Amino acid sequence: MKVIIQICIEGAASRPPFTVPIHTIDRRCDQVQDVGLALEDAKSLLGQLQQTLVREQLEHYLTDYRACPHCGKQRAIKGYHPLRFRTAFGDICLRSPRWNRCLCEQCREATFCPLSELLTVHTAPELAYLEAKWAAQGSFAAVGALLHDVLPVDQALRQETIRRHVLATAERLEAQLGPEQFAYDGGCQREIEASPEPAAPITVGLDGGYIRGRERLPGANGCFEVIAGKSIPEEGAAKVFAFVHRIERKPKRRLRAVLESQGVLPRQHITFLCDGGDTVRELGAYVHPRSEHILDWFHIAMRVEQLLQTTRGLQGAEKAVLLTGIECVKWFLWHGNVIRADDTLNNLLEEIDDARERQRRAGFPSSVVLKKLARALDEFATYVDNNAGAIVNYGERYRCGERISTGFVESAVNQVIAKRFVKKQQMRWTPRGAHLLLQVRTQVLNGELRASFEKWYPRFGAQVQELLAA
Ligand SMILES: [Zn+2]
Repeated sequence: MKVIIQICIEGAASRPPFTVPIHTIDRRCDQVQDVGLALEDAKSLLGQLQQTLVREQLEHYLTDYRACPHCGKQRAIKGYHPLRFRTAFGDICLRSPRWNRCLCEQCREATFCPLSELLTVHTAPELAYLEAKWAAQGSFAAVGALLHDVLPVDQALRQETIRRHVLATAERLEAQLGPEQFAYDGGCQREIEASPEPAAPITVGLDGGYIRGRERLPGANGCFEVIAGKSIPEEGAAKVFAFVHRIERKPKRRLRAVLESQGVLPRQHITFLCDGGDTVRELGAYVHPRSEHILDWFHIAMRVEQLLQTTRGLQGAEKAVLLTGIECVKWFLWHGNVIRADDTLNNLLEEIDDARERQRRAGFPSSVVLKKLARALDEFATYVDNNAGAIVNYGERYRCGERISTGFVESAVNQVIAKRFVKKQQMRWTPRGAHLLLQVRTQVLNGELRASFEKWYPRFGAQVQELLAA
């Protein structure tokens, strides 16, 4: 059996309705794999359909606009130049005309290209959308392979081109973000008082992670810092955000954009749960009229656990005393008692000094584990001091059912960074490239990418919905 697929075009520029054959299927049907369309049939069919459709549309467009809007005279053709329009259904190679302006148009340029007014971008929005959406989840090479598997995209569409398209989309997303704000401007006091009483509080977790950089300076490991966060309202969906610290110019604006998209009101109570790193603390200093900053319990508990593990490696009599001491420190911190935690840490450091002195007098070699533990305890004491203002009574908060931990943010860091940028990736990133891709990735994770495209291209994807409704 032979199936000839034709399309009928009506209302084409100064032509009666006509049909164009676009694909022929001529195959025996003896086995299951012969039934229905093959992927290659579908790709060829869509590719041919797209070529015919775009050429007809553009011819129609040019015919409509050829006449001068003032006198109606046909504008003369100055020449042609090649133009490639990339679509999800193949590239269309066009001869783009250049027309002379009519004398009555009173325009500074004597000539113009009518197609560049229609084709404001040379990559079809839907292709750019698919590339961005998929590149947020997998490597550029994987996106290329996937596109080639299911769509009649051009043979030349490879990872480098896809990377360029995705970064262009990201640049556009970045341009949407307003100027940086140095303090939260919720309006004047009267406006704040008059604003509606907000619902339940919102929790924002902030955490840092690292991505391997492309440049490696001597003596450095070549990594750069990424800040990831998750904003969790009591009701509604959580949203993530992320940026490369070194190049981000508007961290506060970015945070605010997320909060606003979740409908945060001027009187909303915001709890920031941070990991205690210097960079994250700076961003936490962003003051919303009603916000509190808390060192998240997850990070304290994790550090204490590391101290306990080191201590378990000891052999001497001091092991039991040190283990009990560290448990005490944890207990004091749980109750927000920084002073007693500090005192206990100092006592533990003295205890270690004494133990090392005893070893030295007895003629034993100095214990490596004790030395390591002393350094770790000292670092932990500094960490506690630096974050003293953000250590609260966790026990009480916990009993009241309030959040004390961003264990969930640790997962946000994994969610935003690890899966695409770190895990078993031999890939190395430039800070700018990583930052841009993070913007695409967070949009995809927040389910916002499509809305951004709809804002740029008002009827984007509309026909699909009409078809679905039919
Ligand atoms: Zn004219």
